[in-house]
Amino acid sequence: MTSIAAKLQRVRERIRQACAAAQRPCDEVTLLAVSKTFGPQALREAHAAGQSAFGENYLQEAVAKRAALIDLPLQWHCIGPIQGNKTRLVAEHFDWAHTIDRLRIAQRLSEQRPRGLPPLNVCIQLNVEHSPTKAGVSPDELEPLAHEVARLPGLVLRGVMHIPEPAPDFAAQKAVHLRARAAFDRLREAGLPVDTLSMGMSDDLEAAIAAGSTLVRVGTAIFGSRSPGGAGAVQAAPGNPG
Ligand SMILES: *Cc1c(COP(=O)(O)O)cnc(C)c1O
Repeated sequence: MTSIAAKLQRVRERIRQACAAAQRPCDEVTLLAVSKTFGPQALREAHAAGQSAFGENYLQEAVAKRAALIDLPLQWHCIGPIQGNKTRLVAEHFDWAHTIDRLRIAQRLSEQRPRGLPPLNVCIQLNVEHSPTKAGVSPDELEPLAHEVARLPGLVLRGVMHIPEPAPDFAAQKAVHLRARAAFDRLREAGLPVDTLSMGMSDDLEAAIAAGSTLVRVGTAIFGSRSPGGAGAVQAAPGNPG
């Protein structure tokens, strides 16, 4: 069994090598540790090994974990789907939301963001492959939505998030990521001050960094494999195989 600290170290090394290969400065890429289904102890271990940004998909699970870890200065990213009736949980308990795909959700998050907190950082989820199994807006819809979201007072539009379909090899992964990168670049050319391109996971972080990712969301390579059935099945993390 490899410790979370050792696996984190290995992921950081992969990021470093990918940045070197892409001739990009290493500090351009943030590591988000995706801790869904793992219990608070796993996050404590990761934090002790220097990790402070965590991504969660299931809102109730995340809120419970955050309460259990309130003594640690962690940053919480919502990377799961946001239903209209769950926006308040995100507005009140998270620092970032990566999965904005319609204006109504963004408006609710903005209205519900508590005044005592800084604005919620958000990314718009992009679906460049028009994949029916994935959420997200098409490249054509991205810029109009981005302009609307950028005007909302309770939010700060930070950029674009992308989840590709699994692809067979580095070249195929990179080709899809480059399409997300192109859409992100168009936002910047349109004058939107975005700085975050959230793409790359355990299996494709090298290709994502080669295509310009600034934030990789890595779960399995840090915490091990998640038990099938996933949602809410919080595990005793240290013994988790993978
Ligand atoms: C679960 C998840 C990840 C992490 O995936 P791994 O393959 O375990 O690294 C990243 N992004 C999103 C949106 C996820 O749901």
